[in-house]
Amino acid sequence: MTRAVNFCPRCGAALIPMQAGGKLRPFCRACQQPVYIDPKVAVVVFIEREGMVLLIQRAVDPGKGKWALPAGFVDFDEAPASAARREALEETGIEARINTLLAVFPKRDQGLADITIAYSAEAVGGNLQAGDDAADAAWFSREALPPLVPFPSNALVERWRQGKLDFGLPLWDRQT
Ligand SMILES: [Zn+2]
Repeated sequence: MTRAVNFCPRCGAALIPMQAGGKLRPFCRACQQPVYIDPKVAVVVFIEREGMVLLIQRAVDPGKGKWALPAGFVDFDEAPASAARREALEETGIEARINTLLAVFPKRDQGLADITIAYSAEAVGGNLQAGDDAADAAWFSREALPPLVPFPSNALVERWRQGKLDFGLPLWDRQT
C-alpha cells in the first residue's frame, strides 16, 4: 500500500519530489522541509486462558469471514500496550492485562501495517461479545482451530499450537 502525499500537511502547498536523506521524498518549497511518511504501527493480542486462545471472526476485508487474533492500529498519542488492551476490549468485550512482548513483525505483502507488535495478555474481566470490525469472538483450543488470516495471526497461533510460542519479554511501556 502506498501512502503518497501531494500536499504539505503543515501549510497545504503542493509538494515536489526532492532528494533528502538519501531518498526521493515529497518536499514543501514553502516550508523548506521534506514531508516524512511515518510507519503505520499495529498491535496484535494473544490472550490465552485454560489452554484456549481468544479469536475474532473478521467482519470486513482483508480476511472477511476468517478468524484472527484481536488487532488494530496504534493511535498517534497512544502507548502500544494501551492500544492492544483497547483493541481487545473493542473487538471481544474482554478486559485484558497485557503481559509480555511476543514479537515485532515487519511489513508483509498484504499487511496494512508497516510494523506489527504482538503481545501476550490475560483476560481479567469483561464479557465475551464481538464488536467493532469483529463479527464473532470465541475461545478455541489447539485441537479445534478455525481458518485463520495468514499473517500475523496464523504465524503466532501455529507456533502456539506446536507449543513453541515464546512468551518473551516483560513490558517497558506503561499501560494507561
Ligand atoms: Zn509546507
